Amino acid sequence: MLRFFILTIFPEFFDSPLKVSILKRAIEKKQIDVELINIRDFSKDKHRKVDDYPYGGGAGMVMKPEPIFEAIDYVNSISASSKKRIILMSPQGKIFNNEIARELSKEEELIIICGHYEGVDERVKTLITDEISIGDFVLTGGEIPALAVIDAVSRLLPGVLGCDESALFESFSDGLLEYPQYTRPEEYRGLKVPQVLLSGNHREVALFRRKESLRITYEKRPDLLKKAKLTEDDKKLLKELNIDLD
Ligand code: SAM
Repeated sequence: MLRFFILTIFPEFFDSPLKVSILKRAIEKKQIDVELINIRDFSKDKHRKVDDYPYGGGAGMVMKPEPIFEAIDYVNSISASSKKRIILMSPQGKIFNNEIARELSKEEELIIICGHYEGVDERVKTLITDEISIGDFVLTGGEIPALAVIDAVSRLLPGVLGCDESALFESFSDGLLEYPQYTRPEEYRGLKVPQVLLSGNHREVALFRRKESLRITYEKRPDLLKKAKLTEDDKKLLKELNIDLD
């Protein structure tokens, strides 16, 4: 079981995302556990304040260090492992991707700190092992980024996805984007499902999918295609598609 400890000033933010679909099932089946730690519980202020004015002046407020340090002490006191990753969600962090998600899915416990206001006092960074961003844009708080990490990491854990939802053949699993998917009906408003998918010929279907995967990755994310480990068969398919990577 992977345990997430989420340090937040809005624990209620996580209510519905953790109560639906695959995350709900993973919690019920004890494949993951999400402990919500309210940073305000560690404020010494009588109004439970967790922010203060920035030294040097400037707009906005900064999250104070003490409640975050103490919240982490608390997590260390109740958790089983002494060595755990402590992640700060931050627009300045390393951009999150499936590779990082896979790496985090091997951990037993993860602490995720959700910032707010102008962010956290810089001294909090002495506590963390990772600073992760979910993209080059600024959100109001770290809760949505934390949920993105919880979701992407959890679905990679063994047994969390049923075989109908397998993470084995999907975008990024082998460095390429996924092939196009179709379901019934065979024809809708004149739009037809490619004939090969109805053929029942598994080899032809696999070939079609691989070729489409290569084509789509080339069109949408050529940067990924350049980094992907391609087989000799892939190179032949690229030739058929008139795609030259050099
Ligand atoms: N003043 C900060 C800056 O310019 O880097 C932005 C602070 S932001 C308004 C408040 C909090 O939201 C951050 O501390 C972080 O926890 C979270 N956050 C915002 N955008 C994020 C992103 N793209 N990825 C991860 N966390 C983000």
